[in-house]
Formats: sequence, structure tokens, C-alpha cells
Amino acid sequence: MDLGLRDKVAIVTGGSSGIGLATARAFLAEGAAVAICARGEARLQAAAAALRALPGARVYARACDVLQPNQVRAFVDGAVAALGGLDVLVNNAGGGRFSTFADTPDADWRAELELKFFSIIHPTRAALPHLRARGGGAIAVVNAVLARQPETHMVVTSAARAGVLSLTRSLANEFAPFGVRVNSVMLGTIESEQWRRRYREAATALSEAEWLADIARDRGIPLGRFGTPEEVAAALVFLCSAPASFITGATLDVDGGVHRYV
Ligand code: NDP
Repeated sequence: MDLGLRDKVAIVTGGSSGIGLATARAFLAEGAAVAICARGEARLQAAAAALRALPGARVYARACDVLQPNQVRAFVDGAVAALGGLDVLVNNAGGGRFSTFADTPDADWRAELELKFFSIIHPTRAALPHLRARGGGAIAVVNAVLARQPETHMVVTSAARAGVLSLTRSLANEFAPFGVRVNSVMLGTIESEQWRRRYREAATALSEAEWLADIARDRGIPLGRFGTPEEVAAALVFLCSAPASFITGATLDVDGGVHRYV
């Protein structure tokens, strides 16, 4: 299937690692040019170098904290200037927070709510005029099953993700007249740097594969394993592609079947 992404331009926030890096790679494989950002300069430049080594790859990278509007504007405007426009924005940057209500201070609530909302608000605000200038485009948001299926051990992240689900739906309604589609992927547990970090912190005698397999079993993931960043990337690329041209305000569960809602 031709995804119609050749010579399009895609921004992927948090593109230096995990799902974001796999998504950048997937857009490049479809012939799109890609811009990535992340806070850590060294890892970002290493990721950009790896992406530029792919045949025909056009890649722009700039360090940027998505919570800093001036940095976001400079990144988005720089990407548009370097790559010649903008067709796709993937709001991926961020991470999750493990805590229950009992052990979450106000500062952590504020930090997580700020991260979840403004990691979408700032890049979307900066990108929208450029998408409209092209006559339309696509925005994809990385969300989680937690939005509809809250977990006690991730109380703040669950609440924030529910809000992001509502925000995403509102953006889809508001931007539809401009031809800008907005969709999200609802993730279960996906292998990534976040989980490698949690494995190291667990200081367990198990191998990483055994530790992940135990978690998959404990969580009752019907497909019996974690997802891969590439599996998420494929869903994100599809939602931003021409064959998805009549899909907006939608969610796609990429979770190995772990969601229990219908
Ligand atoms: P990784 O830790 O592998 O990648 C996160 C990326 O986001 C990195 O590039 C990181 O770079 C960047 N990032 C984090 N905070 C900021 C910031 N404030 N500004 C700019 N860039 C930032 O994690 P994943 O690939 O797993 O996560 C990607 C997204 O998927 C996240 O939003 C996460 O919450 C979501 N998700 C992941 C799940 C999973 O099981 N893996 C499950 C559900 C959702 P740097 O630190 O240098 O800024």
C-alpha cells in the first residue's frame, strides 16, 4: 500500500529514543523527511547521525524541551525552514510516573499534568500554522490505555492521560475544518529506554528478557509480551498517512489486547 508520505515532512518529538526514534525511522522508510527533538543533546545527535546514515534520509535535529514554548517554536520553525514545510506532527515526547495517591505530593501532580498537557499544547500550537499553510496535515498523539483504564500505581499519569484523550478529541473537532486530522495511539507496555531504566533500578538477578516476561505475565497481556517501538511506529505512520484520510478523532489500541473496555 502506498502511504502517500514520499517527500512529506514529519516532526517527531522525543525522537532520540524508543518509540520516537522508531517512528522517525519508519517515516524515513516511507520517503518522508523527518525532524526530531529531545532535551539531551548527545543522544539526540547520535540518533540523528544514525538516521542520516539511512539511504536518502533528510533529517533535522535540534535540542528542545517541549515544556519550553520558545524552544519548541525555534525547533518547529527551524525544521520547516530546513525541510521545506510541515505535513505531520507526532507528539511523543515524555514518560510515565509510577506512584499511588498516597505517595504523590502536589509538586509531582503539577509536574506530570504539565508534562502530559504541554508536551502536546506547545508543539501543536507551533506546528498548526505550518500545517494549515500546506492546506492540511495530520497530528498523532502518543497516549496510553491508562486514559480509559486507570492503574492505582500510576494515579497521576492515568488522570493526565484521560485529560489528554479529551484534549485530543477537542483538537480533532477544532482542526477538522482546516483539513488537519488528529488521532492517538493508546499504548500498553512497550519495550523502550523507560523500561530499560526501570529494569536497572529494579536491580534484579533476572535477565532483562525474564524480567519483562514476568511483567507481561503479571499484567495478563493476552499476546503474552511487551510491544516493540516498531509496532507503535507502524500505527503512528498509518494514522498520519493518506490511506487514513477519513480518520480523525480516533484512538487505536496498540497494547497486545490488554485493554478490557469494549
Ligand atoms: P523513551 O524514554 O525511550 O523516550 C522518550 C523520549 O522523549 C526521549 O527522546 C526523551 O529524550 C524525550 N523527552 C522526554 N521528555 C522530554 C521533554 N520534556 N522535551 C523533549 N523531549 C523529551 O520512552 P518511550 O519511547 O517509551 O516513550 C515515548 C512516549 O510513549 C512517552 O510519551 C511515553 O509516556 C509513552 N508511553 C510509553 C509506554 C511504554 O510502555 N514504553 C506506555 C505508554 C506510553 P530526553 O530525555 O533527552 O529529553
